[in-house]
Amino acid sequence: MTEIFPNLEIQARLLELRKVLQRTSYEYYVLDAPTMEDSVYDALYRELQALEAQYPQLITPDSPTQRVGEKPTTQFVSVQHHIPLFSLENAFVSSDVKAWQERCQKGLTSNSEEVSGVSSRLPKGFLDNVCELKIDGSAIALTYEHGVLVRGATRGDGTSGEDITPNIKTIRSIPLRLNLENPPDHLEIRGEAFLPIAVFDEINQERSQQGDALFANPRNAAAGTLRQLDSRIVAKRRLDFFAYTIHINQADFVLQNLPDISSQWQALEFLQTIGFRVNPNKRLCKSLQELQDYYDFWSTERLKLPYMTDGMVMKLNDLSQQEQLGFTQKTPRWAIAWKYPAEEMPTIIEAVTVQVGRTGTLTPVAELRPVLLAGTTVSRATLHNRDRLAELDLHLGDTAIVRKAGEIIPEVVRVLPELRPNGAIRFVMPTHCPECSQPVFKPEDEAATRCINLECPAIVRGAIEHWVSRDALDINGIGDKLVRQLVTENHITSVADVYDLTSDQLQTLDRMGQKSADKIIAAIAQSKNKPWARVLYGLGIRHVGSVNAQNIADNFPNVELLARSTPEAIASIFGIGEEIAQAIYEWFRKEANQNLIQRLQVSGLQFVSEKKDNQAIAINPNITGKTFVVTGTLPTLKRDEAKALIQSAGGKVTDSVSKKTNYLVVGADAGSKLEKAQSLGVQCLSEEDLLNLIDS
Ligand code: NAD
Repeated sequence: MTEIFPNLEIQARLLELRKVLQRTSYEYYVLDAPTMEDSVYDALYRELQALEAQYPQLITPDSPTQRVGEKPTTQFVSVQHHIPLFSLENAFVSSDVKAWQERCQKGLTSNSEEVSGVSSRLPKGFLDNVCELKIDGSAIALTYEHGVLVRGATRGDGTSGEDITPNIKTIRSIPLRLNLENPPDHLEIRGEAFLPIAVFDEINQERSQQGDALFANPRNAAAGTLRQLDSRIVAKRRLDFFAYTIHINQADFVLQNLPDISSQWQALEFLQTIGFRVNPNKRLCKSLQELQDYYDFWSTERLKLPYMTDGMVMKLNDLSQQEQLGFTQKTPRWAIAWKYPAEEMPTIIEAVTVQVGRTGTLTPVAELRPVLLAGTTVSRATLHNRDRLAELDLHLGDTAIVRKAGEIIPEVVRVLPELRPNGAIRFVMPTHCPECSQPVFKPEDEAATRCINLECPAIVRGAIEHWVSRDALDINGIGDKLVRQLVTENHITSVADVYDLTSDQLQTLDRMGQKSADKIIAAIAQSKNKPWARVLYGLGIRHVGSVNAQNIADNFPNVELLARSTPEAIASIFGIGEEIAQAIYEWFRKEANQNLIQRLQVSGLQFVSEKKDNQAIAINPNITGKTFVVTGTLPTLKRDEAKALIQSAGGKVTDSVSKKTNYLVVGADAGSKLEKAQSLGVQCLSEEDLLNLIDS
């Protein structure tokens, strides 16, 4: 039951929505300069519609739901439309279209009952539809008298528009005289004037050169152009036109011996024969499935068209059915526009949570009232970092515009402060890590806020989740949930601990049987065969993605070479920038990371490239398992190159000479290492000896 005094908050929301929609509608229709995405406008409009349906006593005649467009305020002469120009009801999902079909069937049913008193003449099944592309332009009404164009007018507020005849006459696809031998005295044609995308781009380029404000989209550019006072400018802008409606007086048609037009399809064909451009991509559909197919096809194909479309329009084909159903205050009941999925929508920010990533970066995330965006339901959106938060000036409870395009992560584009609830609290980034409660660090030159506690459970979890992920070590069976459990219960505190896990240990976990535990242990063992590039990627060094890791591994065939390299040497690899090089360099300088590598090496992970030809490295007994030290300046090889050669042949290279050293590779100006090797009786090799040994 409707409350007499609706909740005050709802009343406030309703008033605010109306204000926002009135302002944006004025900017859109009168100034031709929208400040809001259409999808956002549409969603707020639907919210207002729903509230008004719930509280009809609050509807006001000036509500945007009660009017078509806006009353124009230009210097053109205002003209009354004999037949009003309507807007279209919108459908957003297929169930809206189905509901509309059912409404049409019901409407026709009750009409025919009223007329005949019987229900046997009811339309049965699906009502045939003509599907047309919804051209994103500006509706215009053309009046022909005795076959000659006498007036062209804008839609305006639906009942009165502006007389823009001189401008209309510049549109070449609008015939000044109809191609009819015996034209009726009076004929009204409606259609869409639009700007081809290429022309729109040109106009905006010109405007930007002249320092003028850019048009937001071709539709507003077309509307703005049509209302130019100087028709020479209009002519230059090359507007185009598709006709889609003809208002005929049947008696006139009979009188002039014109064809019988009883369907929208015939109307479109007739329009074409009398000289109009009709959009060729129309289709007569006889089932919901056919409507769906048309929609699906054009939702991608439309991107190839030289003009913009923002949906499809479905119209009952049978004109007598159209007549029976008639109009609401704003829209025909016999037509509906099915809009393409929106990439931007408004929704409410219900909370903000802060996530800690594997590198310790704190990311604020908006928890949203779920909203359908680009075909998927979105309930969370990234707020990026503290700078972005400050820019947004985000308050809890705000209505925010959320964007998701294709595969892109949903994000909050902006908030609508006009719709902010009273007393809403501004969200600020925490001063302490939400995971480990340690103070966070805010590097001055970065927008990021970081937790720098290496033992922070979020960082540990993130590192392990990354290590086991498909592009890294691809360890099947260790998902995010298991990682959380293993870390929370202290079974592992680093990636290296993964290799110490036992089946028995895993079996102590919730719902983990022996079979699953054994499988996981086998998958862990298998990961030891993954190549060096994957291991490098798995280490999770900042900026080192899988492609970069492969590139780096191709140039640094083993970890020792990379660990000892300079940032300049790393950056000299084609495709690797200074930032990545620096990040790698710094990563290897940290003791904790050096220990990690050592532990992983002991566990048997691959830190040396396989041979390029993919053949197993032939075991060279002179090298494999032997420990080398390289000292002095070698005649041709750099020291790092010599080390890489030894390692790729299976040898181990250390820095200092000890009893365990098998060979000392000596170059010019060798110092204390040579002396020590001699005193310990370690065999010394020249560069040539080394190369012979490797080739042996
Ligand atoms: P509409 O554009 O949603 O649909 C009606 C119009 O579709 C017709 O007037 C006609 O011009 C056009 N059309 C194109 N192809 C057609 C075809 N083949 N057959 C019939 N009509 C066809 O409705 P509207 O009343 O013109 O505008 C309302 C829409 O404008 C809203 O849904 C919103 O998206 C947009 N709007 C946006 C803002 C903003 O701030 N972004 C403000 C106000 C309105």
